[in-house]
Amino acid sequence: MSGSHAIDRALELEKRYPAAAEMLRYYREHAAAQEAAKPGDRHQRPRGAESAPWDACVSPPDCAHTPLVAVLRPEGEGARRMLLCESCGTEYEFRRLVCPFCGEEDHTKLPVYTAEEFPHIRIEACDTCHRYIKAIDLTRDGRAVPEVDDIASVALDLWAAEKGYGDI
Ligand SMILES: [Zn+2]
Ligand SMILES: [Zn+2]
Repeated sequence: MSGSHAIDRALELEKRYPAAAEMLRYYREHAAAQEAAKPGDRHQRPRGAESAPWDACVSPPDCAHTPLVAVLRPEGEGARRMLLCESCGTEYEFRRLVCPFCGEEDHTKLPVYTAEEFPHIRIEACDTCHRYIKAIDLTRDGRAVPEVDDIASVALDLWAAEKGYGDI
């Protein structure tokens, strides 16, 4: 994902979700400043580089991979559930229908909530540990940029908090 795509997406969502416009604008300014400071996309493997040091660089071995959001990526007829690490930006595959925080697998304790305003985002909650994660569904909106759409859907976080679900 290139930084400019994320900035374009933030601009697009600013118009669609005025309630989150201020935070998205802040994100854009921050991302633009980072782009200017670091030319080139750090997620792009440098040509000819060995894979081992690069992997070590983007995924520090001491990172606990606390998930920021879940990402549903199209795969065949369905989707693969990935979790995006808040600290290092790594995406790693995670089983569906399992709470990423406490490991609950009983689907009756894992309610999913959706809102009309965000057709490609859902709240995956856990009634055992009372936490939740937002899932950005790229099969429904291929232009979504997980960390940007996460900011745009702050209304869902407020709703989850009202229902008694805590963030990480
Ligand atoms: Zn990480
Ligand atoms: Zn849980």
